[in-house]
Amino acid sequence: MSDQTRCPSVLSSKLNPYEVALQQFRAAADILELGEEYRKQLEIPMRVMTVAIPVRVDDGRIEVFVGHRVQHNDARGPFKGGIRYHPQVTLDEVKALAMWMTWKTAVVDIPFGGAKGGVQCDPKKMSDNEIERLTRRYAYMVSKILGPYTDVPAPDVYTEAKHMTWFYDTYSQVVGHSEPAVITGKPVIVWGSPGRNEATGRGTVITAVEAAKKLGIDVRGATVAIQGYGNAGSHAARIIAEEHGAKIIAVSDSKGGIYNSDGLNPFKVLEHKKRTGSVVGFDGSRSISNDELLELDVDILIPAALEEVITRENADRIRAKIIVEAANGPTTPEADEKLYEKGIVVVPDILANAGGVTVSYFEWVQGVTRMRWTLDEVRSRLKEKMIDAFEDVYGISKEKKINMRKAAMVLAVQRVVDAIKARGIWP
Ligand code: GLU
Repeated sequence: MSDQTRCPSVLSSKLNPYEVALQQFRAAADILELGEEYRKQLEIPMRVMTVAIPVRVDDGRIEVFVGHRVQHNDARGPFKGGIRYHPQVTLDEVKALAMWMTWKTAVVDIPFGGAKGGVQCDPKKMSDNEIERLTRRYAYMVSKILGPYTDVPAPDVYTEAKHMTWFYDTYSQVVGHSEPAVITGKPVIVWGSPGRNEATGRGTVITAVEAAKKLGIDVRGATVAIQGYGNAGSHAARIIAEEHGAKIIAVSDSKGGIYNSDGLNPFKVLEHKKRTGSVVGFDGSRSISNDELLELDVDILIPAALEEVITRENADRIRAKIIVEAANGPTTPEADEKLYEKGIVVVPDILANAGGVTVSYFEWVQGVTRMRWTLDEVRSRLKEKMIDAFEDVYGISKEKKINMRKAAMVLAVQRVVDAIKARGIWP
């Protein structure tokens, strides 16, 4: 299962995600009255590597895939960010995602910068052996710019623990020793961390609960709709229902959505998806489209799929009270303004889905120290980090009378710029 699930509605998206990321950055830079020298350093990634990856496919032919690794900024620590496998991967998308990682690691104040990797491929149409060969060759090609103190990848859309293991093994072969801290999101048996799998979803729920408290909404019995039932969405569903008593009334994946006003059992939905390949057709539910799901009258809406699903076209029709962005970049800047005017609270991606990279940090710490943490330790540290970050962001949004995305960006950009200033220029 991938970190997130693809939804077809984004395929019609017209905005370039890098332009969206730049707009968000410039809005924060304006508020901070940032000088040109910092703007330029942060608008352009520090390093971009594009590789042509030859893979011998199962019928004996050689196919060449295009992959990227974008290292946006490392002023606060080694570059950090996942690797995405998706047919629509573009360099500009990876550049946007890398920049968002810089802000995300800064918002939760972990000692990393931001990076992202992406390979344009359709893993649903490839065999496991082909994906392994692709992963290993990509790992080899980018290994020159990676390392436990340089750049540390992780899972993202359509990649998971097994890809991380192939990556870890290949990198270790290249450097001549096992190096568990080079990548996170590994299985526990090879120095993964307990709690990493659920971390994005758990972090999303922690921030959803905090946002609900601020609005005086009781999460017990609150209605929830989730777009995307991959790693982030399915764990968020399970945790918010099981631990907080919320009612999941709609979920979806790339094939469509399901709805039941009496509530869906997240475990049974996941079983159904594992068995049939989709949430669609789940017993006792009626079918709805991904677009309809977004417009449901719910307390909490969790977009947990891909970019640009809440846009100027549908923002006026959104009826949720709180939107918690488990996906990266689901809301466009124009939609953000409309939602803010309507009084809808948006917990932005760089805060709402930062649980994943936060536990990646815990995994990295365990990797470099060769120590093991317990699940309880991971969960309680994650909770503390997420609540601290939520309070920081919420406080700035109230103080400056800006939405939570701008507040999170102001906090993050300030932290990164302070690090750049403190370090100075060399040579
Ligand atoms: N891909 C995840 C994200 O977008 C996790 C990144 C990481 O753990 O490094 O935040």
